Amino acid sequence: MTATSRVDLPLLPLGRGSDPASERGVDCPGDLPPASDPALVERARAAKQALGDRVFVLGHHYQRDEVIEFADVTGDSFKLAKDAAARPDAEFIVFCGVHFMAESADILTSSAQQVVLPDLAAGCSMADMARLAQVEDAWDALVDAGVADRVVPVTYMNSSADIKAFCGRHGGTVCTSSNARTALDWALAQHGPDTKVLFLPDQHLGRNTAVLELGMSLEDCVVWNPHRPDGGLRPEQVRDARMLLWQGHCSVHGRFTGEVVDRIRAEVPYVQVLVHPECRHEVVTRADLVGSTEFIIRQVEAAPPGTVWAIGTELNLVRRLAAAHPEQRIMFLDKTVCFCSTMNRIDLPHLVRSLESLAAGRVENVIEVDPATAEWATVALERMLSLPG
Ligand code: SF4
Repeated sequence: MTATSRVDLPLLPLGRGSDPASERGVDCPGDLPPASDPALVERARAAKQALGDRVFVLGHHYQRDEVIEFADVTGDSFKLAKDAAARPDAEFIVFCGVHFMAESADILTSSAQQVVLPDLAAGCSMADMARLAQVEDAWDALVDAGVADRVVPVTYMNSSADIKAFCGRHGGTVCTSSNARTALDWALAQHGPDTKVLFLPDQHLGRNTAVLELGMSLEDCVVWNPHRPDGGLRPEQVRDARMLLWQGHCSVHGRFTGEVVDRIRAEVPYVQVLVHPECRHEVVTRADLVGSTEFIIRQVEAAPPGTVWAIGTELNLVRRLAAAHPEQRIMFLDKTVCFCSTMNRIDLPHLVRSLESLAAGRVENVIEVDPATAEWATVALERMLSLPG
């Protein structure tokens, strides 16, 4: 039996520095312009112009409109990290996204480039659900159970750099929501038919991919609860499982329910339900189309006028899609507001502060992954990049 080595306190530490139990920081240095400053847009423009090609601003699809307006490129986290790597002349990468994304950009860009996160407290609740000490405890339990040599760890891109490094060290890989099936196919072939996958940190992406794309049964998947000894699983459950799903989820996509899908279908004729695979199994099994953020955008862009959509992903993106495609009828798959609260921490005042600091010669909120972690995380990322397209 292995006990978790860290006591979890459900508290947000206040003050400067980083939260040791989380991937995020807790505060940012410097003065923040007030959100009511009418000159903010002009200030952002002026600072960006002053920096010229020295700065490259990345905007994740879930960012606010006021931030996206200043992004040189938009995309999902992996695309943005690759976009940054393709701009080696930019000294500063300002990542308008969350902490783990900035880490990936730091890993994939050159050591001459610095990655800046406009608000250090912009973490990801899903990434925080799998911390290195917990994952190491789980691995020890799998060693004690005599199965670790048949387990391949696979982590979703939405995880901290040290979890990616853990996967690199233990023969595993990273996946995105676009290539999860390919990554699982690869992982399950590593140790013959008895191979198991430890899938981190999103249980829904792991389950949805295993069941809907690889044809496994729900019984092939068990959930590893990091807050209980031995994951809360009996030895025979661990022995018989093919997928050990970490008990993590996205607090945004986890909100959509099967009941809402049923209601929308009953009330809206011809509606097509389009959702992200981070949604619960009951939601994706009721949807018409399931795919990554980029997939969702492509479906809407390619659809004929008059198409009716109910979309289950982050609200900033759904609103932008609705504004860009007035010829279609686009609804959000939930009655309540469903922004990603950590993504939303990056607002115009934070972006202005980052750009003005850089223009003034101060580099603040740098995200830097330590070399050993970066090396093993790169091993895991390179395994992913070598998978068939
Ligand atoms: S949308 Fe979900 S996975 Fe993405 S940053 Fe927010 S909490 Fe994390």
